[in-house]
Amino acid sequence: MTIAAELNSEARGARAGTAQVKVVPETRELRDRIRAAAREFTRDWDRSKPLSRAEATLRAEQFVQWLGIGQQYLGFCLVALMNEFWRDQVAAVPFHRRLLLLPHCLKNAEGCPADYDEFGLDCRKCGQCSVADFKVRAEELGYKVLVSEGTPIVLKIIVSGHVDAIVGVACLNVLERAFDKVLLAGIPCVATPLLSSNCRNTSVDDDWVAELIEVKLEPPSVRTRSYVSLMRAAAGMFDEPELSRLAPRVRNTGKSDSDPLARQEAIAYEWLMEGGKRSRPFITLAVYDALMGGRATLADTAELPDAVKRTALAIETFHKASLVHDDIEDDDTFRYGRETLHRQYGVGPAINVGDYLIGLGYRLVSRERHSLGFDVAADILDKLADAHLRLSEGQGAELLWRDAVNQSISPLEALKIYALKTAPAFEAALYAGARLAGDATPYEKLFADFSRNLGVAFQILNDLKDWQGDDNNKLLAGQDILSARPTLLLALALEAATPPEREELLRVTAERNRDSRETALNRVRSILHRHGVFQKADQMIEKFRFRAEALADEVEPLALRELLYYLVDTVLSRDEAATPSDPVRSLPLVAVPT
Ligand code: SF4
Repeated sequence: MTIAAELNSEARGARAGTAQVKVVPETRELRDRIRAAAREFTRDWDRSKPLSRAEATLRAEQFVQWLGIGQQYLGFCLVALMNEFWRDQVAAVPFHRRLLLLPHCLKNAEGCPADYDEFGLDCRKCGQCSVADFKVRAEELGYKVLVSEGTPIVLKIIVSGHVDAIVGVACLNVLERAFDKVLLAGIPCVATPLLSSNCRNTSVDDDWVAELIEVKLEPPSVRTRSYVSLMRAAAGMFDEPELSRLAPRVRNTGKSDSDPLARQEAIAYEWLMEGGKRSRPFITLAVYDALMGGRATLADTAELPDAVKRTALAIETFHKASLVHDDIEDDDTFRYGRETLHRQYGVGPAINVGDYLIGLGYRLVSRERHSLGFDVAADILDKLADAHLRLSEGQGAELLWRDAVNQSISPLEALKIYALKTAPAFEAALYAGARLAGDATPYEKLFADFSRNLGVAFQILNDLKDWQGDDNNKLLAGQDILSARPTLLLALALEAATPPEREELLRVTAERNRDSRETALNRVRSILHRHGVFQKADQMIEKFRFRAEALADEVEPLALRELLYYLVDTVLSRDEAATPSDPVRSLPLVAVPT
């Protein structure tokens, strides 16, 4: 495997470490030489669309060879190239629409007087580190400034519409993770790597940061395609007053506390507005746009017909309904950082909110039958009903397994359940977008196969993430075992285990006392390790990912093909924790200090 392929494979989910290719050049002279060469190397690149992860890493490897420097600098070179790729796009964004994102590890760890608030570190500008200098200058120019950490926050800030470009400082590990979430989506971003990744009293080339903060140009002649306007359109449908415009409230009497009908409607709408990156409605809008010429990917604002938006809204109402019911079935305590709906209002009212949202979803589409055409509305409703049934089958099979006397499960049986758990929602979202744009027949089978492979890979990835919690917090690891879920990991372990190990695994899953299961977690973990279950699961993720990408390879038009690649990269990104019922973690969009 080449080093670039290795770097690429980590982004694609392989477990091998890549620290050996993320070394920051020790001398300023070499760092400057790389930056200058990157400008030259990228001069004639096509900037009309974002580079895929595979393209970018391949070019970085070519760049390293062209420069004749060591492979250990590959990660740094990738950042230098991406900076040059995006520089003009960032430079064309007015200062007041940019965010400066600084890491708190730049602070003087021993003497920093700053406290943390909801926006991160509230720098007091004491002058003991360069944070104050960057912050003061950026704020003078009009920037919003955050001293915070993490990629998810960047995406949320962009999608929430507060800023249009990012100037960042971060270590190479963070910047690499940012690639899948930020640059692939077409969010203009430039960054300066920290000179070390040790998370304490770090430093950076100050003048490089200052230069990127000040960069300002007229808009470039070629605009890079971006999904930001579509992400914002998907998110904006769930903000008031837009939500009530698209899905008018019928019980809104203005006295919801005393009127039970208005109260029930208000709870359902609040739940619909709660949390979320709106990945499913985004898929519907993005497929529609891709098949209509991709205009929104080149616009600041996505102009979309209301009937299209209402259909995308319906996709999310089904998802939200399934989350309420899942939370009850699993008796989960928290969702979106708050108590689950049944913990807040009781099981009965929560079940009812789920039912209400299902009805609302169907009605949103059926009421558009005159604008969409009866055939289009009927086709979409049929696909939604089919997805609804299959999701219920998958969930039902899992619940029945949980309560069964014999909890043996084969990998094939686990995969069959997985194919029903996430794929139908992806498929319905993709299909709806295509049907809204015209005849979806040529895509129907493709979307089904693509969604199945992507959904199964996602579910397996989730299995792995469930155990990765033990890196940081032992209490978080092994939740699937604690909740007695029929996972592929368990199935692979049962298949490979010796008779005594098999007996042990079945005893743990059959154990009804959660505390007793918790004490058995370490033994389960060592059985999984002993039989190479994590590696096998990794290989299966790559197999299903490969199949999904191979299906995408055949797709026309190009805009739709690229969207499918983008979905593979983002859905299967290892950056974010996710829950089984929520492929893309749904946290509230965040505000930024103004
Ligand atoms: S300049 Fe700001 S971040 Fe740096 S040590 Fe002082 S208060 Fe802390």
